[in-house]
Amino acid sequence: MSGFAIDPCDQCEELLQPFLDRDLSEEERMVAENHLTGCEYCRKRYRFEEQLRRFVRQAVVEPMPPELKTKLSELRTPLI
Ligand SMILES: [Zn+2]
Repeated sequence: MSGFAIDPCDQCEELLQPFLDRDLSEEERMVAENHLTGCEYCRKRYRFEEQLRRFVRQAVVEPMPPELKTKLSELRTPLI
């Protein structure tokens, strides 16, 4: 994990968001799943985003734990 000049997963973001929203066609979903299988970075990210979404649904009753906030900012920063 050194010398990443370009984000190798530039288009993952485009796939992952609709994937998480269950907003892809069957074919697109397979592309996304294929990528997740081969890409550890996106897999971790996807897992986290999925957790986050699940959490957001419960967030009406619970505040976000600080470690989740930290994790979130850690994941966001390298993508900008
Ligand atoms: Zn990826």
